[in-house]
This record gives sequence, C-alpha cells and structure tokens, in this order.
Amino acid sequence: MPQLGFGVWQVPDDEAESAVATALEAGYRSIDTAAVYGNEEGTGKAIAASGIAREELFVTTKLWNTDQGYDSTLRAFDTSLEKLGLDHVDLYLIHWPLPSKGLAVETYKAFEKIQADGRAKSIGVSNFLPEHLEKLISETSVIPAVNQIELHPHLQQRASREIHAEQGIATEAWSPLGQGKGLLEVPAIVAIAQKHGRTPAQVVLRWHIQLGNVVIPKSVTPSRIKENIDVFGFELDPEDMAAISALNEDRRLGPDPASFDVA
Ligand code: NAD
Repeated sequence: MPQLGFGVWQVPDDEAESAVATALEAGYRSIDTAAVYGNEEGTGKAIAASGIAREELFVTTKLWNTDQGYDSTLRAFDTSLEKLGLDHVDLYLIHWPLPSKGLAVETYKAFEKIQADGRAKSIGVSNFLPEHLEKLISETSVIPAVNQIELHPHLQQRASREIHAEQGIATEAWSPLGQGKGLLEVPAIVAIAQKHGRTPAQVVLRWHIQLGNVVIPKSVTPSRIKENIDVFGFELDPEDMAAISALNEDRRLGPDPASFDVA
C-alpha cells in the first residue's frame, strides 16, 4: 500500500473525475473513496481514463453503515465494484464500528468471504477504537490490514497506534491535515515550514510519514494536490518531530466512534 494516497471525501461525483485524474497525473497511485461519498463512479472513470495499469493502482472503498450485516454487505460490495468499474479493490473497509448495532463481526465475516473470493485484496476497518478491534480480532480469522482513523497533530492517537503496531495493523490517518482548519497556521508548524523552505501542509504530511502513518490528504486544487505528494525530498529533524508531537490535544474534528451510530 502506498504510504501516501489521495482522499476524495466531499468531492462531488462530477468533480471527482477531474480531481482523481489530476492526482494520478501528479503521481498518486492510491485513491481512498467510500460508498457514502457518492463518488465511486467519478473515481472509476478517472481510473479507466488514466491508462495506468490496474496493478499499479491501490483503490480503497468502504462499506456504509446502513449496509452492515452479512448479506447486505455482499450486495453493497457488488454495487461499489460496479460503480468503480473494477473487478476487485485493493482494500475494503468497514466505515464505522457502530457498537450499538453489534453487526461488525457478522459484517467482517462477509469481508472475509469477499477477500477469499479475490475481490478485495485486503480487508480492514475504519474508526475502530481499541475495544472494537479487540472484539473483532477475537471473533474473526483475518487481522484487519488497516485501521483508518482520524489522526493529525491535534489528535495523535498514541494508544491506537501502539495497539496497531503490536497487531501488525497499518495506521491510516484520515483528515491528516486537520481538514486544513487552523492546524496549518499553528506557529510551531509555520516555523518548521520556514526552516525547511516547505509549506505547513508538507510539514504535517512529512511528520505523519516519519511516524509511519499512511496518509490520504484531500484537495481539489491542482497546485495543492501536487504540493501534498511532494513530501519525500526532505526530512524533519528529531526536534521538529518532537515539537509537532507536543501539539497533541486529543481533540477530534469528527464524531466519537464510541457513540456514532448514524445510519
Ligand atoms: P484533510 O486533512 O486531508 O484536509 C483537506 C482540506 O485541507 C482541504 O479541503 C483543503 O481545505 C485543505 N488543504 C488540502 N491541502 C492543502 C494544502 N496543501 N495547503 C493548504 N490547505 C490544504 O481532510 P479530509 O478531507 O477530511 O481527510 C482526507 C481524507 O480522509 C478524505 O478525503 C477521506 O478520503 C478520508 N476520510 C475518512 C473518514 C472516515 O471516516 N474513514 C472521515 C473523513 C475523511
């Protein structure tokens, strides 16, 4: 899985095609979409038009909450594949754990079947807290390849990252730039950016990369799409890493997975 990919949340279907095309031209090879984003078709069109060999691409999509359950998962996966115009995805994720519904294990058993059938190369989860992971792992056979969670300098998720490392689960950061709100103006980040002749967004993405996180920054602005993948030609010093790690506030931008059960 490429350590840096392109996220398309909140990109309307008709804009997704050009945004994904720009990303593929800029060198991204991993795309993160979801059934609920409503842009699997636009994403698929850009992939088809790119002419890039399928095996060079890493495509992730996610099962939406209303489709949890064994049979409904199999049906929802068929719909996603059809919209994407693909015969397999590289990664299929349960979007939210929905602990109040208690369907995650049954849902994941359908994921195991999808993987056994070769239609998802890897399977995993999103927004799973340590207790959700523990239950899933104890009641199913395949350790999730990935847990995609909200993660940025204001919400560093140390406990989850430790558990992922112990279990061999990749940590994938959603909203890696903190949705661009405020985080990119934090003086410590701006100072590190000036020191390296880079932008604050590049510094935050580089911090993730050096921590070992997978990142999927989103932008529809071509210059930013290019800027966000240009993070492999410089390195943060240990003191830069420490200064960013000191910014943790355990502050979520999104919902708390313990209580979020929106269908
Ligand atoms: P992000 O942290 O990637 O921030 C995106 C925003 O930051 C952009 O809309 C723009 O306003 C700004 N931005 C981007 N590049 C910039 C740059 N170079 N300079 C200045 N500003 C810049 O936030 P996101 O879109 O919430 O998260 C990224 C991806 O994570 C999503 O597109 C989606 O694929 C995934 N995601 C998953 C979940 C989940 O529940 N699994 C939830 C949210 C997002």
